[in-house]
Amino acid sequence: MNSDATANELLDVLKESREYAQYFGELGVETIALSSDHAAEPSRPLPETFLEPSTQRGKPSGAETSRPSPGTPIVSDPPQPASLFGELATPQPAPVRSMERLEDVWRDIGDCTRCGLCEGRTQVVNTFGNHKARLMFVGEAPGADEDAQGKPFVGRAGQLLTKIIEAIGMKREDVLIGNVNRCRPPGNRQPTLEEAAICRPFLFREIAAVQPDVIVVMGNTALQNLLEVRGGITRVRGTFRDFRGIKVMPTFHPAYLLRDPSKKRETWEDLKKVRDYLDNLPPRTE
Ligand code: URA
Repeated sequence: MNSDATANELLDVLKESREYAQYFGELGVETIALSSDHAAEPSRPLPETFLEPSTQRGKPSGAETSRPSPGTPIVSDPPQPASLFGELATPQPAPVRSMERLEDVWRDIGDCTRCGLCEGRTQVVNTFGNHKARLMFVGEAPGADEDAQGKPFVGRAGQLLTKIIEAIGMKREDVLIGNVNRCRPPGNRQPTLEEAAICRPFLFREIAAVQPDVIVVMGNTALQNLLEVRGGITRVRGTFRDFRGIKVMPTFHPAYLLRDPSKKRETWEDLKKVRDYLDNLPPRTE
C-alpha cells in the first residue's frame, strides 16, 4: 500500500471516529457498552401468522436454537476493502447505551413548537410501548387517529401492524412503536426533510435509551431517516442493515399494504427474518 493510500485510510478512520464521537455527544451518552457475543438460546414459541396459518410454529427444535441461519442475510454498511488497520478501520460499534429513560426524552419534547407541524396538531404523539422492548417499529408520522388519541399506529394501518406483530408471536405490549415525526402533518402529507431532521434526534435518543435488538423501519420516511441508503424501500427491504450497532430491517409501511395487499407476502418474509433473529438471541439479563 502506498503512502497516499495509507494517509487516506487514516483520514477515513479519523472522520468515522469523529462522527461517532459527535453522535454519542449529541445523545448525551455517558457509557458505551461492549457488545456481548450472543450465545445459542432456545427460542419462544410462535403462534399464528398474519398471512400463513399453515406456517404456525410450535416449540423450537434443537436446530432452531443456534445462531441465525446462514441463509439470513445480515448486512451492515457496504463492505470495506481489506485494510492496513484491520478491525480498527472497519469499526463494528456496540449499540449506543444512554443513561436516559424515555420519560427524560418526552420531558424535553414537551409541548413542542420546534417546527411548523405544531400548528396543525392536536397533540404530540410520542413513542409508545414496552420500555424494555427488544423489537421496535418505526413509521413516518401520526395520522388523524393517532393525532386524536395521542398514540402511534392506532388507526387502520395500526390495526394491520398489530396483526403483523402477532404474526411473529409477539403482542403489541412487547414492542415499542414510534415515528420519525410526532405531529400530524396537514393532510397526512410526508414530513419535509427539515421537519424530519428536527424531530428525528428524539427518536434516536429513545433508541439509545431502550436499545432494542431490532428496529423495523416501515416505509421510505423511516428508512431514509435511520439509514443512509440509496434507493427506496422496495429495493432495500428484506435485508438486515445496521443503525449504530442495532439491526434494522426495512419493510413496507402498513398503510402501503392496505393499498396494495399483494405486498403482504414480502412483508411477511421480512418479518420472519426478524422473528428468527430474535429467537436466536440470548435472554436479556437486566
Ligand atoms: N402512519 C404512521 O407512519 N404512523 C402512525 O402512527 C400512523 C400511521
